[in-house]
Amino acid sequence: MRFHVIGSGISGSTAARLLADAGHHVEVWETRGHAGGNCHDECVNGVTIHRYGPHLFHTNDRQVWEFLSRFTAWHDYRHTVVADTALGRISIPFSMKTEQQLGRRLSDEEIRELIFVDYSVKQWGVPWDQLPASIKDRVPIRRENADDRYFNDTYQGQPAAGYAALFRLMLDGIPIHLGAAKDAWRRNRRPTDHVIYTGKIDEFYHCVHGPLPYRSLRFEHEWSGTRLPHSIINQCNRLPYTRFYDHAYFSNEHPVQTLVTREFPEAHHDGNEPYYPMPFGTGMETYLKYQRLAAAEPNMIFLGRLATYSYLDMWMAVAQTMTKIRPFIHSFIQQTRTNDNQ
Ligand SMILES: Cc1cc2nc3c(=O)[nH]c(=O)nc-3n(C[C@H](O)[C@H](O)[C@H](O)COP(=O)(O)OP(=O)(O)OC[C@H]3O[C@@H](n4cnc5c(N)ncnc54)[C@H](O)[C@@H]3O)c2cc1C
Repeated sequence: MRFHVIGSGISGSTAARLLADAGHHVEVWETRGHAGGNCHDECVNGVTIHRYGPHLFHTNDRQVWEFLSRFTAWHDYRHTVVADTALGRISIPFSMKTEQQLGRRLSDEEIRELIFVDYSVKQWGVPWDQLPASIKDRVPIRRENADDRYFNDTYQGQPAAGYAALFRLMLDGIPIHLGAAKDAWRRNRRPTDHVIYTGKIDEFYHCVHGPLPYRSLRFEHEWSGTRLPHSIINQCNRLPYTRFYDHAYFSNEHPVQTLVTREFPEAHHDGNEPYYPMPFGTGMETYLKYQRLAAAEPNMIFLGRLATYSYLDMWMAVAQTMTKIRPFIHSFIQQTRTNDNQ
């Protein structure tokens, strides 16, 4: 079969690789000048820069880990985060270690006030009482131990040669049109059986039900001769940015100068990136209308955070892709077995 894959983030690239491995003809279309979507990184002045915000890999899914491990070795990276709060700099998620730092026990409500309310309001641009329970209740608290790792998944690490190298290998041998116009794939005359679409779902339908809301980010970068004491320092306060970070930590580099970046959340508009879907309130109502249109499409598969309008960690994007394209991989494997037996 022939597939067009629209978008080469981790969702589109996973689909392209698995389909190509199953013997299908695959062609990828990407508007940016590089593959990898928001996971993309690049080396500048000896520092691996995470151009679209820091990406730290973690999963409990062995199949996802083994799939990605085909394209990279991993460097052991233990991700810890600290936060500047009204009670000073503390380690998060809130653990026994944080209680030791503060010298006292805090109630769940106090923890929420201390590290979550101001941060979430900045992040989402919505007053606290209008945020859905799915966000408000997401306060990680680990009272039972002093484990200060941000993630406690079984598999964690950073691609040893960076994400860009991982994607180069994943897409090896698959034709990709980089810098393509958004609708270039629609104008392509080569026949196709299925289209895998990982772009914005509202854009796919020319916003017939109106644009979906997203949160975006503005990055302020500064080269510095002084390393930060921690990889990421969250700002749980009223400052206009949510966090700042030192890129050299993510790839275990020791450069003379490092890049420090501050992240300022802002509304999404035509001139910036739609980083975070807002699948609650009117955002969710509008998305459900697009989802109904998508469900009626015979030869389309919608994948990834923009087309399924959901916040997906990298491992979730890979797992979702594996699940949704399984019928095409499975039927090919069955067919090959039958041919072998004839
Ligand atoms: C700031 C930030 C930090 C994050 N940190 C982490 C983290 O630490 N760990 C983690 O697991 N996850 C993290 N994530 C989530 C991670 O970025 C996503 O899981 C991942 O990017 C999802 O990949 P995707 O392919 O679905 O989407 P994307 O990465 O957005 O890829 C979509 C691609 O499609 C292209 N495209 C869109 N429309 C078209 C079109 N019409 N034609 C052609 N191309 C098109 C886009 O240019 C893009 O390259 C973070 C996300 C953000 C925003």
